[in-house]
Amino acid sequence: MKRFLTFTLALATVGSVAVAQKSIPHAVRTLTEATNRRTEVVLPQIKGFNCYKCDFHIHTSYSDARVNPAGRVIEAWMDGLDVIAITDHYEGRSGERNFFKVINPYFEGQEPIKYQSANKAKTVKADFNAIHQEAVNQLEKSGYPMLLIKGCEMARNAETHGHFNALFLQDINGLYDEDLAVALRKVKDQGGIVVHNHPAWRRKTSDKTEFHQQVYGEGLIDGVEVANGVTFYPHIVRRCIDEKLAMFGNTDEHFMTAHRYGQAGIHRTMTIVLAKELTEKAIKDAILKRRTIAYSGGYLIGDEPWLVELLNASVDCRLTKVDKKTNEHIYMLTNHSSIPLRLRRGKTIFPLEPFKPLVVSIGKDKQGVEAAQPLFHVENMWVADYKHPKVVLEIDK
Ligand SMILES: [Zn+2]
Ligand SMILES: [Zn+2]
Repeated sequence: MKRFLTFTLALATVGSVAVAQKSIPHAVRTLTEATNRRTEVVLPQIKGFNCYKCDFHIHTSYSDARVNPAGRVIEAWMDGLDVIAITDHYEGRSGERNFFKVINPYFEGQEPIKYQSANKAKTVKADFNAIHQEAVNQLEKSGYPMLLIKGCEMARNAETHGHFNALFLQDINGLYDEDLAVALRKVKDQGGIVVHNHPAWRRKTSDKTEFHQQVYGEGLIDGVEVANGVTFYPHIVRRCIDEKLAMFGNTDEHFMTAHRYGQAGIHRTMTIVLAKELTEKAIKDAILKRRTIAYSGGYLIGDEPWLVELLNASVDCRLTKVDKKTNEHIYMLTNHSSIPLRLRRGKTIFPLEPFKPLVVSIGKDKQGVEAAQPLFHVENMWVADYKHPKVVLEIDK
């Protein structure tokens, strides 16, 4: 009897353990919220054009950066961009060199594979179209409504030649030539455009070199980076206006944008392109017609007329009261864009934070501008010759 009891007890114990194990799941998801979140950069429509947020200069781990093409697509989406171009270095691909270092021991006893820079090997043995395709595949998988532009960066000595981005390419492979001017001509043959990158990088001037005189003179250059990362080149604004070139603001990102910009709580550097629609044709057309504004570290850099349009399209200015005795005018200013704007009248600064209306009371200013004319200097906008534009806000009825 005792033996029977023990047996029954043992059975019951095994049974309860089995029941308990069944009710505990093998794996539990600790996060059930969707995380594919984007920080939208809200910009107004300007004269029938949409403001597209673009970065035409980004590197991946295939040249000398630390993020792969798929990561760049996801990162750009999260940063609120609409258009990106992966522009890996045609020359100088340390990622490739590191890769061979890692895999060579695997082929023990065989001649180690050595990476050779294009300049030394006189050719490039990498498939740049495949790099672009990796980004395209990620974009298709993610379903983001973004546009990817095919491109690359060509680089020579910073003192004599500098770096140039080739964009809107058909076929990236085969563009290399020892003579950089020949390579740039090949870009044009494909219907591509050329941007002169970071013109004062590793130089004490942004003036043109002999090589620049040659390629600008030949009409091979379509635009220049007035801002690269968080560096602004003020002299280049005048050059772009005089020579009818588009102004660009690009990250030239080699690490993670979250590291450089997100942790500092600032937006990612970008080129705002004013185009009718999000197609390659419309974006390229807008660049060739110079409808671009660079946005870097809070600075808006561009042609004065477009900056004035951007300001008036972003800011709602309502006259709420006029003091009959003093003629003081009270306005309510609301910035409907994501870009903080910094207005100044006389010595007073009016910071227009996004979506935070500011009520301001203004009288006749020291230059005799009447209160009825809401004229401001826009401190974070930069036009030619290192100046801020003076803008009379349109009063909304
Ligand atoms: Zn460069
Ligand atoms: Zn670069």
